[in-house]
Parts: sequence; C-alpha cells; structure tokens
Amino acid sequence: MREDIRSMTPEELAAELREMGEPAFRSRQIFAWLHRGAGSFEEMSDISKSLREKLGERYELSAPGVARKQVSQADGTVKYLWELRDGNCIETVLMRYHHGNTVCISSQVGCRMGCAFCASTLGGKVRDLTPGEMLEQVMFAQRDSGLQVSNIVLMGIGEPMDNLDNVLRFLELVNHPQGMNIGMRHISLSTCGVIPGIRRLAELGLQLTLSVSLHAPDSETRDRIMPVNRAYGVEELFAACRDYFQKTGRRISFEYAMIDEVNDHDWQADLIVKKLRGMPGHVNLIPLNDVAESPLRPSRRVRQFQRRLEDQGVTATVRRSLGGDIDASCGQLRRKAMEIGRKGL
Ligand code: SAH
Repeated sequence: MREDIRSMTPEELAAELREMGEPAFRSRQIFAWLHRGAGSFEEMSDISKSLREKLGERYELSAPGVARKQVSQADGTVKYLWELRDGNCIETVLMRYHHGNTVCISSQVGCRMGCAFCASTLGGKVRDLTPGEMLEQVMFAQRDSGLQVSNIVLMGIGEPMDNLDNVLRFLELVNHPQGMNIGMRHISLSTCGVIPGIRRLAELGLQLTLSVSLHAPDSETRDRIMPVNRAYGVEELFAACRDYFQKTGRRISFEYAMIDEVNDHDWQADLIVKKLRGMPGHVNLIPLNDVAESPLRPSRRVRQFQRRLEDQGVTATVRRSLGGDIDASCGQLRRKAMEIGRKGL
C-alpha cells in the first residue's frame, strides 16, 4: 500500500521531497494543501503536473466518503459516519457550543476496553486509526460544514491511550502552525484510565486537557463496569492523576456516567470527595445514554449526586446532551450501520 501522506510531519515531507530533488518550499506548499483538506493531488494548482503525478504514484491521498450524515434539528449537532479507504466505518460529531465549534473524533475502529455501558466496544477493536485519519475527521467536518473548528475532543470511538503513538503524531500535526494550528489548550483527550499512557503524557507536559473516565471511585463497582480497572486499579489511577497534575499544573476532568443503582449512591459521591482532596479536579456527570444491548439504566439521582459533591467543595457539572435525536453518542451510529450491513437491508 502507498504511504499515507497526511500522517507525515512537515520535516518528513521535506526530507522526502529533497530526496526527489525538489526545493524546500514545495514541501511547505504541499503540507498547506494537505491541511486545507485537498482530496487529491490534482487540486494542488501551484504544483507542476509532473510532480503531482510523481506524488500520486508514491502516496495515498483521498478524502473519506460520507456514508451517512445526520443533522440535529434541535441544536445543529452534525454526526458523520465516514467510510475509510478499507471499508471500515467511524464516527465524528461536530457540536456547536458558545465557546466555539468542537469536533469529537474517533481514535480507533472499535475498542477493546470492554466498558459495560459503551456501544463502541461491543464488536471489539478492529484496528488503530492513523494520524492522517484522525486529522481528516477534523478537516472534513470543517470543510463539509463550512464552520471554523476551534476545539477538538478525543472522545469518539476508541481508547486514545491504546493508540498513543499515532495520537501524539496527530496532535503534532493538528497543532502545527502551517497546518490547522489548533492550540493544545483547545484539545481534550479522554481515557478510561490506561495508567502508562497518563504517565507518558505527564512526562511530555502537553497543555491539553486530560479527561479521565472514572465512572466509579471504588474498586468493586469499577471492576464490574470497566474491565480496565482489573489491570490498572482505581487507587493507582488516582495516584497517577495526582502526579499528572503536579507535573503539568493542568486540572483533570473526571467523566462520570450516572448509572441507576450502580454508581449513584451517596457514599460514592462522598468517596469521590475524599479521593480528590488536594487535587483540583472537576467532575462531569453524564446522564447515561441508553444502549439497547446493555441492561444498565440511567440514574434518577443525577442532581442529588451533583449537589452532594458541590456541598463538599467538589466542582461538578451535568453534561448538556447534544444531538439526542441523532444517535450522537459514542458508537451508536456505527453499530446501526453494522446491523444494517449484516441484515443486508
Ligand atoms: N475511550 C475513551 C474515550 C471514548 S468514550 C474513554 O473511555 O474515556 C467518551 C466518554 O463517553 C467516556 O467517558 C465514556 O465512558 C463515555 N460513555 C461511553 N458510553 C456511554 C454511555 N452509554 N452513556 C454515557 N457516557 C458514555
């Protein structure tokens, strides 16, 4: 297979072009075209035809196809189901917030983390996404919608820490001044708690926002709903978060999907308070999205839980749910497409 040119850094591209006998400014032109969302080499009108042909022989360049697009009537949220070059499908969601347009991207095709409440993991992991494929989600959502994207969240399908080398390269590309130039402070990365990944990010000291999907502060509950907890226990996770804060100075956001009679008890709120003592954090309570295949149901105590945290000095917000009318949460649209594919409808 030809090399994926969108995954290359400007330095790598410059080195290859030098080898092809081209001047350095060519690589800057090509990098700019790629990061403006050019879907083919033919579009690069200021590059000679012969070089465009040479590039076409060497590198892979195309735009992902939109397999399906849904626009929420309620809030303008757009959900894309992309078909990748190998026929796999992934999802991207574009949300319009007051603070800017935010794209939620996928980092893998499927996921192997096995969280009991999550639709993305039902079929396991198929493969990792390349840095270029992550970049394309941002670029083509921007191009298709005509909206300037200012924020990125890695909260779609997949576990970013399970594909960290590619994710780090994606961050370098999307942050690049000659590319989309999206600031690290406008990027959030969410993990189910893969501790070596958290430690590696801490060492790098990037200024992005780390979100940790906590979902339970006690081992017994967390073991039950998140298999990752058996490999990386919650006590060790809190310790890694504490170190992360000390190294980076960045406050962590803890995601907490509220599940009826599983993780919504008062004692669990109290335990969160205890565990977060001395570590500035923020708890984001998410009303559970019903996944048809799962017996877990949404909690009826979201506001009480929030109040209990707040009364004890922990900042807690309830996530506003966008795109409820278009299956905009993780993995649901891909599941549906897979179902339809299987049944041959
Ligand atoms: N793998 C990463 C990022 C993807 S999931 C992670 O686990 O953080 C993005 C967020 O949605 C996570 O916090 C995840 O736990 C949450 N989530 C998954 N399924 C959900 C559901 N049915 N209802 C509410 N939140 C859900």
